[in-house]
Amino acid sequence: MFSKLQNYISNNTGILIRLDDISENMNWNLMDKSESLFDKYKIKPVLGVIPFNKDKELLSYPKKKDFWNKVRNWSDKGFEIAMHGYTHVYDTDSKKKDYFGYGGRSEFYGHSLKEQTLRIQNGLKKFNDENIKVKCFFAPNHTYDKNTLLALKNSGINEIIDGYGLMPYIENGIKFIPQLFYKIYTLPFGIQSTQIHLNYWNDKDFNNFEKFIIKNADRIITYKETVDKVNNNFFYKIINFLTKKMLQTKRFI
Ligand SMILES: [Zn+2]
Repeated sequence: MFSKLQNYISNNTGILIRLDDISENMNWNLMDKSESLFDKYKIKPVLGVIPFNKDKELLSYPKKKDFWNKVRNWSDKGFEIAMHGYTHVYDTDSKKKDYFGYGGRSEFYGHSLKEQTLRIQNGLKKFNDENIKVKCFFAPNHTYDKNTLLALKNSGINEIIDGYGLMPYIENGIKFIPQLFYKIYTLPFGIQSTQIHLNYWNDKDFNNFEKFIIKNADRIITYKETVDKVNNNFFYKIINFLTKKMLQTKRFI
């Protein structure tokens, strides 16, 4: 009985490492260090790549000349490449009416289906032209509306790394992989994605991340393993609902 429970918990526990804001301009010093760390501990993270970065804040970081070559190398190594927005420039305000009710500025929320489809398909075309396979998406600042989901589905993307809950789930025809905390947390149970912004890190943050990786290496799973855990049973629906209610007011842990 006990070993059955142990099995159940270990089958439904895992951490997906998601790095945000990967683009030509970024903190390459920490990116290179992170890549060596991932290789050493055989970690396959998800890298959220911005196809046409025009975000002024991000553009202030050093530019990598052979960036797309680098992305192809990551992809060949088994790192999962996700599309993270289009230009990463916010031009609407979701006023808490966005899909998850987080609020804040957005690159997608509130735009017409036509405009959102254009942005998503132009972004995907870049990856396609560069011969890089992309299966999943996450929006800058976690802000979506129903049209974002529709535009993604119409463009062949059915997986999003965002959302509430302790297990990946399907809603409106999309597989959602929950991303709950800004800080790197480990929960005793459930499948979670991190969100890591290397650009804002100093050496101390990186050292903490290294310790986290060493301590949790056996719980870190690949993107494919995460998607395979999609669970829509009633128990998880209730747990996910409760997580949503609890966290909606305490998002910025
Ligand atoms: Zn971002």
